[in-house]
Amino acid sequence: MTTAVINPVTTEQIAEVGSASLEETDAAIDRAQEAFPGWRDVAPGERARMLRAFAAVIDEHIEELARLEVANAGHTIGNARWEAGNVRDCLNYYSAAPERLFGRQIPVPGGVDITFHEPLGVVGIIVPWNFPMPIAGWGFAPALAAGNTVVLKPAEITPLTAIRIGELALEAGLPEGVLTVVPGKGSVVGQRFVTHPSVRKVCFTGSTEVGKQIMAGCAEQVKRVTLELGGKSANIVFADADVAAAAASAPYAVFDNAGQDCCARSRILVERSAYDEFVSGLEQSVRALKVIDPGQDDSEMGPMVSAAQRDSVQRYIDGADVAFTGSRPDGDGFWLPPTVVESRSTSEAVWREEVFGPVVAVMPFDSEEEAISLANDTEYGLSGSIFTNDLGRALRVARGVESGNLSVNSHSAVRYWTPFGGYKQSGLGRELGPDAPNAFTEEKNVFIAH
Ligand code: NAD
Repeated sequence: MTTAVINPVTTEQIAEVGSASLEETDAAIDRAQEAFPGWRDVAPGERARMLRAFAAVIDEHIEELARLEVANAGHTIGNARWEAGNVRDCLNYYSAAPERLFGRQIPVPGGVDITFHEPLGVVGIIVPWNFPMPIAGWGFAPALAAGNTVVLKPAEITPLTAIRIGELALEAGLPEGVLTVVPGKGSVVGQRFVTHPSVRKVCFTGSTEVGKQIMAGCAEQVKRVTLELGGKSANIVFADADVAAAAASAPYAVFDNAGQDCCARSRILVERSAYDEFVSGLEQSVRALKVIDPGQDDSEMGPMVSAAQRDSVQRYIDGADVAFTGSRPDGDGFWLPPTVVESRSTSEAVWREEVFGPVVAVMPFDSEEEAISLANDTEYGLSGSIFTNDLGRALRVARGVESGNLSVNSHSAVRYWTPFGGYKQSGLGRELGPDAPNAFTEEKNVFIAH
């Protein structure tokens, strides 16, 4: 069986990719299992060197990978270059881990107690379509560094960069079976990662709905699982902030990647006394957003990834009270304009649900307590921003918002050297940051009697 890969700008087919069957998935897992002892036993310094060699080969192919992502997912070329560079940077960062996978020596009477961090075995990584390259790298770089082998399933509609990265791994000298890309259906390949006993951990990024099924499936084997799921993050703007700067930057915090971003600040809460000033600044910045061919260097927003995603987002727009929109090009392509809705009630679908497209809902608030309570009035808790010039308030609100990744007076992107993950139904566990390799190990305790 094959899947047609569509360019979301031209709507034309650009590739046809084979979907792995259950037997092919099992064969890939078996090869990863066979490759595991050899990879685990590579000397730490040598494993580090191999990961740096992999990073170097990615670096030589940044432009090729970026162009592939523009064609497959409609990402702007600027973003796509950053994304390919992020894979390289993750590999370089975690290439320092093999020689630093420290255990501890713990004082005990009658002997010596030491701990070891041992790799799990085969790790299965399931990737969504919105950030095919970074999300793959956030899983495989620390997993490989800790001595695991990896099978990786890209999303059905965006497999091209992952397949290429798998080829580049071999070109860089990683042994066969250490990193295997298995394109195919979630219900076949992804599901098999959950049920196959040789896969010892599943890293899933995707919708909360599928994440719950993955978690339930992993429970059967008490399989380790990391979940990175949906979001409905708030951008909270206080009247004491630089309101003009907050309005100028807000579109980039939600319309980046055409809003198909789990960290999108898709709810904006504005203190009532600054509301009109903010909304008028927002209108200017939204209208100025360059929604053009994503292959052009100055493009700031491309199309939706697919016709299905465009239609799903359009349904939210149709049901909402639209205040204003930005532009969108004429012609083919799964385009939507950046869209701003003024929400009157927290029960509106556009306020509550993860739209996963270029739609933002704005609402006024009257007090710090109300802002925190509105921000937390969601099942999600992934990201968010706080704009204020009052340091005490910045810290109080940052501590008050139930969310894994917050930024003050900025909309910081995910950094590979700081932890990333969600509160509540936005996920389970953390990726990235200095501790990520440990999440791909078991801690073993050994007591040696004197
Ligand atoms: P999705 O859940 O439909 O699919 C994600 C991946 O899971 C795909 O590779 C898919 O093939 C696979 N899959 C589907 N059903 C499966 C099953 N039964 N068993 C195993 N695998 C299965 O999500 P999507 O539409 O591709 O991505 C959008 C969602 O991802 C959004 O909700 C978004 O918020 C979320 N997301 C979260 C993060 C994060 O880090 N928290 C990052 C990016 C995207």
